[in-house]
Amino acid sequence: MPRMHEVGIMESALDAVRREAQAQHAQRVERIVLRVGAISGVEPESLRFAFDALARDTIAAGARLDIENVPARVHCRSCAEDFVAARGFIFRCPRCGDFSGEVRAGRELELSRIEFT
Ligand SMILES: [Zn+2]
Repeated sequence: MPRMHEVGIMESALDAVRREAQAQHAQRVERIVLRVGAISGVEPESLRFAFDALARDTIAAGARLDIENVPARVHCRSCAEDFVAARGFIFRCPRCGDFSGEVRAGRELELSRIEFT
């Protein structure tokens, strides 16, 4: 079962797809690309379940959903090291061991591309 969180996100994404399809007078959606950050709080698998359940009766029925995973990139304020954080919310710098990391990427949750036919 999809989680409620992902269902709401997919509903908004499909709304955006519908508006864009109308604006472009498109008949069918071929492919949708979502960018999902590693620490966006969204589970890609649940998004897929939500898409399968919700897209069925929309213009996006039969479209391919591609999910681009964006790794969590963190910048250490102490030593300026940039590193990719493992899953979770503790960002310890692998170089100096400090916890003053600043997240530079990984919170993304966006519709990055829609392809019509
Ligand atoms: Zn550091």
